[in-house]
Amino acid sequence: MPLTVHQFPCLEDNYGFLIRDEATGLAATIDTPDAKAILAELDKLGWKLDLILNTHWHPDHAGGNAEIKAATSCTIVGPGEVTRIAPLDREVKDGDTVMLGETKFQVIDTGGHTLGHITYSDAADKIAFVGDTLFALGCGRLFEGTAEQMWTSLQRLAALPDETTVYCAHEYTASNARFALSVDDDPALKARAEQIFDRRTRGEPTVPTTIALEKATNPFLRAPKLAERVGASGQPDYAAFGAVRAAKDGFKG
Ligand code: ZN
Ligand code: FE
Repeated sequence: MPLTVHQFPCLEDNYGFLIRDEATGLAATIDTPDAKAILAELDKLGWKLDLILNTHWHPDHAGGNAEIKAATSCTIVGPGEVTRIAPLDREVKDGDTVMLGETKFQVIDTGGHTLGHITYSDAADKIAFVGDTLFALGCGRLFEGTAEQMWTSLQRLAALPDETTVYCAHEYTASNARFALSVDDDPALKARAEQIFDRRTRGEPTVPTTIALEKATNPFLRAPKLAERVGASGQPDYAAFGAVRAAKDGFKG
């Protein structure tokens, strides 16, 4: 039985994701950017919340935990770092499994944006909730981790099947596309960037994406191929990645 994903905008540029295991009707929220918005969507859908699945501790991901738990008595699952801002019912780490009814999520360590950031991967449905690690044409900023740690995390995601649907937590794609075009002139990227600008002009989301699409066009995953463009020729892959990340941090456009 499949997993249903309901995606909706939250805060400035976050996405909320409510998911339901169709075999049992149990529902979860991926992160808690905006408690009121999430509770209103749950109400509209008529879903009963069983779990909060946190990807990392940032307030736009775990800030609504307490209010949602108070309203639904759900169980809060996440990496240990979430306790910096709110209590957890269950701490999980790389290799752990989380069940939502009959849907099984594998926890993957994707540290780098924050040290303890995790991804929830549903291999049966080929769906991954990647938080702020991988974005459409982008990746999370290195607030806590090193380029090497983030590169390793991104390689774990790139190793998922090509058809995997990737739900990232922010709509940053148009600005990511402008940066990508500044470091890469690959035809597949140019075609994708056109589509993205069109969609955003119409106010349509560019999330979810897929692993195949990101491997083909995301400048952070393509960093080793762009090493010369970013002044990292002959350096290890993670250093090329670090140079692309630094170029994006300084990019005005
Ligand atoms: Zn974050
Ligand atoms: Fe975020």
